[in-house]
Amino acid sequence: MQSSPPSERLNLLGLTRPALEAFVCELGSKPFRARQLAHWIYKRGEARFDAMTDLAKDFRAELAERAEVRAPSVIEVQRSRDGTRKWKLRADASQAFEMVFIPEDDRGTLCISSQVGCALDCSFCATAQQGFNRNLTTAEIVGQVWLACRELEDADAVVRLGEPKEAGRAAPERAVPERAVPERAVTNVVLMGMGEPLANFRNVVPALRILLDDCGFDLSRRRVTLSTSGLVPQIYRLAEEINVALAVSLHAPDDELRSELVPINRKHPIAELLEACWHYIDEQNGRSVTFEYVMLDGVNDSPAQARRLARLLAGHPAKVNLIPFNPFPGTSYRRSPEGTILRFRDELNGRGLVATVRRTRGEDIDAACGQLAGRVIDRTTVRLGSRISSGVAQA
Ligand code: SAH
Repeated sequence: MQSSPPSERLNLLGLTRPALEAFVCELGSKPFRARQLAHWIYKRGEARFDAMTDLAKDFRAELAERAEVRAPSVIEVQRSRDGTRKWKLRADASQAFEMVFIPEDDRGTLCISSQVGCALDCSFCATAQQGFNRNLTTAEIVGQVWLACRELEDADAVVRLGEPKEAGRAAPERAVPERAVPERAVTNVVLMGMGEPLANFRNVVPALRILLDDCGFDLSRRRVTLSTSGLVPQIYRLAEEINVALAVSLHAPDDELRSELVPINRKHPIAELLEACWHYIDEQNGRSVTFEYVMLDGVNDSPAQARRLARLLAGHPAKVNLIPFNPFPGTSYRRSPEGTILRFRDELNGRGLVATVRRTRGEDIDAACGQLAGRVIDRTTVRLGSRISSGVAQA
């Protein structure tokens, strides 16, 4: 399938409920029709207005003329031996962005992108290397979840972990037992893919509303996590707007080191960042903030640094998630050895902090944290992936 030309139609995936109601009214229909329409789009994953049989024929025809349900188009899908799946999605003729699905026994987590590239330049992150390209639209952010739900709930898509759906694509052969997939494959959404979500506040917040809306994806606020590198003013704004789980990329217990790893720290140092976090929890009645801490060998992983981190967070509603560093071409950082990571965790636990180690997933397909990079699309890949269609509404 060729990529479609820029469309004049309104993409309904970018509309929050009030906006969808307003649009429906503009077409001369009653606002409650918006609920029916949303049901087709989000609960049934339907993109074709023709198929929405409980809507009046004239209304459907009008919708087909003026609107569409269009998810980003898929360039390529890769499957990891561990069941993780990565989609490369088209941003434009030369740029791509990625999303990753991570199946676990009790949940399915979809990691989505908020920008093409990233401007924040964290020294240990692959996305930073490509620089910033553009913000994703609300429809592109919501469209990732819509697309993943559709592809994963497609009966033959979720069968056996470790087996590629696309015939002919080489995959490491290994017998992996068949296992049940929860009824709804995507139970959790994390904004931990490419980009800094709070730098795209204008498009991210409406997307979050659609994820939480009972007429949208109807996800619980605890199952939607926004991860930020620490844009302090936007954390305060977020506290006024919406209630989701907050994760913060801390990565160092002191300003000197953090400024080196996460340069935005020069503008918004640790003390300010933590104030903003506690404010968010107070405002939103949240349980705790999760602090992400990437484990870099010999850089931020000493027991003394663990103790310093514990002092910063002790007595606050905080959890720590230790992320073993995932290498990428050109980096000089190395992952801390397992023993060092466990010792670091134990130091934190011993001081009353809940700290866990994130299991690394999808490494064989570069889908692990910090490995996402929307490489410039090359023509061969486009051809290979072109069989997989996006859900473009047929007019
Ligand atoms: N910009 C947001 C969200 C994207 S990154 C943020 O900074 O939080 C999601 C998480 O992966 C962040 O905690 C980030 O610091 C971490 N990460 C980035 N590169 C990594 C790498 N190479 N290995 C492990 N974790 C990494």
